[in-house]
Amino acid sequence: MQLIDGKATAAKIKEEIAEEVNRMLAAGKRAPHLAAVLVGHDGGSETYVRNKVLACEACRFTSSLIRFEEDVTEEELLAKVDELNRDPNVDGFIVQLPLPAHISEQKIIEAIDYRKDVDGFHPINVGRMAIGLPCFISATPKGILELLRRYDIDTIGKKCVVLGRSNIVGKPMAQLMLQKGYGNATVTVCHSQSRNLQAECRDADILIAAVGSPAFVTADMVKPGAVVIDVGTTRVPDSTRPKGFRLQGDVDFEHVAPLCSAITPVPGGVGPMTICMLMLNTLSAAKHEFYA
Ligand code: NAP
Repeated sequence: MQLIDGKATAAKIKEEIAEEVNRMLAAGKRAPHLAAVLVGHDGGSETYVRNKVLACEACRFTSSLIRFEEDVTEEELLAKVDELNRDPNVDGFIVQLPLPAHISEQKIIEAIDYRKDVDGFHPINVGRMAIGLPCFISATPKGILELLRRYDIDTIGKKCVVLGRSNIVGKPMAQLMLQKGYGNATVTVCHSQSRNLQAECRDADILIAAVGSPAFVTADMVKPGAVVIDVGTTRVPDSTRPKGFRLQGDVDFEHVAPLCSAITPVPGGVGPMTICMLMLNTLSAAKHEFYA
């Protein structure tokens, strides 16, 4: 069984990005600039945004953090999005989700200039991704593709089962695994209404779990020799940990890992790759790689 080390792979990619930024600086260009908008003080969001700022430092990017209190109005947030859209010194930006209930996330996402939408959530990027055109691909599925590629995992013609159909993970993952230019696999997507989910999983050469339910994938759901990618990151209470919780994946790692040809751990698998792909998207934005 091969452990797919997302932490080491992400560190390597960040080094590669930093080298490219050094070359840009040496050529007289400015460093890529990623801005993040954070609303409120949700613990998870604070952690994600802090990690994004740290990743920017590792990649030698400029980063800006724009904070709003929980009671910010939708109009105020839209005005900030408009300002960032127009700012020639900002290459890409994200609005950290979730947003408070009084703000329409979809409205905010659609207000972001798709050419700066490094999260890849804008319908133009989602649509272009679905038909195989160059675009910002959302970071988690992009990170999984990169892990599969860097670990030489053959996906062509394989049976891939994606568990979960969210807009940020399950759906784009399934579309990318389906496409000729990416996974080129035979893809099945399962969700909470799927019948025969266990049998579908048992048939998978590549199983990608994005359910958000700890240890959902048990050993009897995995074909011997399968590749298992665990996207799940649920905080479960753990008094032995300094923060009082630990991250648990969607896969019962202890019992599933011995069956697999390759598997991602949680933490240290998909998670570090996600932030790293945001950096890669920002680099692409700075280079105008997808859009003029
Ligand atoms: P989500 O929006 O809650 O979607 C979960 C999906 O799983 C839904 O499609 C849901 O089906 C399905 N599901 C839930 N319970 C199920 C069950 N019992 N049987 C079959 N399907 C079931 O979650 P998400 O945003 O995709 O995230 C999934 C997990 O990945 C979470 O743990 C999240 O924290 C983690 N995540 C990690 C990263 C990372 O960088 N590592 C990034 C993003 C997300 P329905 O559609 O029918 O409700």
